[in-house]
Amino acid sequence: MYNILIVKYGEIGVKGKNRYVFENKLIKNIKNMLKPMGKLNVYKEYGRIYVDLEDYDYEEVIEEVKKVFGIVGVCPGVRAEKDYQKLKELALAMLEEKIEEGAKSFKVESRRGDKSFELTSQEMSLDIGGYLVSQVKDRIKVDVRNPEIKIKCELRENHVMVYSDTVAGYGGLPLGTNGRAMSLLSGGIDSPVASWMIAKRGMEIEAIHFHSYPFTSEKSQEKVRDLTKIIAKYCGRVRLHKVNILEIQKAIGLGCKEEETTIISRRFMMQIAQRVAEKRYCDALVTGESIGQVASQTIQGLTCTNASVSIPVFRPLIAMDKTEIIEIAQKIGTFETSILPEEDCCSVFSPKKPVTKPRLERIEKSESALDIEKLIQDAIDNIEVEDIEF
Ligand code: ATP
Ligand code: MG
Repeated sequence: MYNILIVKYGEIGVKGKNRYVFENKLIKNIKNMLKPMGKLNVYKEYGRIYVDLEDYDYEEVIEEVKKVFGIVGVCPGVRAEKDYQKLKELALAMLEEKIEEGAKSFKVESRRGDKSFELTSQEMSLDIGGYLVSQVKDRIKVDVRNPEIKIKCELRENHVMVYSDTVAGYGGLPLGTNGRAMSLLSGGIDSPVASWMIAKRGMEIEAIHFHSYPFTSEKSQEKVRDLTKIIAKYCGRVRLHKVNILEIQKAIGLGCKEEETTIISRRFMMQIAQRVAEKRYCDALVTGESIGQVASQTIQGLTCTNASVSIPVFRPLIAMDKTEIIEIAQKIGTFETSILPEEDCCSVFSPKKPVTKPRLERIEKSESALDIEKLIQDAIDNIEVEDIEF
């Protein structure tokens, strides 16, 4: 029955003069998201965004559209030539379907885009509501205060439309409206979630992954590629920078105290990420760190990591519990891949007893035994880059 989707967007509606920029970006992003399905018509009309469904399955199209950041909800609807009687019939058909699905109470909400129409929107609701009740009798009752479902009826300049359900989107802001970030992506649960959350705020994402091949396997890199692919589902295309830090880890192992190796390698990662970020015009780094989650994420650990770079570091998970993070990982589809048992470069070289309260001066002193600049430059010179699309 549905032939159109009505796309609802929240936050961007209040952006004043920038509104059209955001809307156009949103339309472009929806079109891109739908491109693999075929050529669907996505357009703006009367300050709303619509998608014509034609012969496509509405649930499949909604599944795609709702992944576009900036959308708060998607409503499947029926639209027809402007004809008030037709509007009533469409409303009845929709109500019949809802009754079949088990709805027990309803109300009609109306909007009148065509101000010359003889009924006000309130009168329309009364009139259509009366008509519906006369048709369905007591199979469903009217409840204007707390209805189970709403039958939303619209009369516009040149069409009528009915819709009821809203499928929730993720909200946020359209991708590409807030610059670009370089996300430190491990194979774990947290960093893919962090990347997604930052992308949701409109930032394009590039990913950087550190490995210790051949100590870490080919497969563990594949896992990161798979995770990047899932993120690319939401972001279109993600460039993945793969950095081999084996030589760095060896140098740290030889030159520094065992308990400091994790924190020092983390500082190397951050510095390399910063340089790649600058080269790629990224405005910030993203990590999946969360206060106190592991030894390197105590407040002292975070202080040492943070001090290694000058670029802003975004840590969207900083105050979240693991269970909350897992919930998002499941919702966005990264969890199953994240929990596959592949080793990480950190776990291969991790000390038995890492420092939990590292002091920055001490860490810096330990590091000074290393040729930091050469180690970083060598690693950067050997970066492999892949553009990953869903
Ligand atoms: P995750 O689940 O994201 O791996 P974690 O809880 O295992 O996080 P750590 O291993 O301490 O925590 O890593 C903290 C953050 O540092 C990660 O969220 C990620 O942003 C970054 N990071 C760690 N290891 C790597 C890596 N091999 N490549 C890229 N980034 C990494
Ligand atoms: Mg990890």
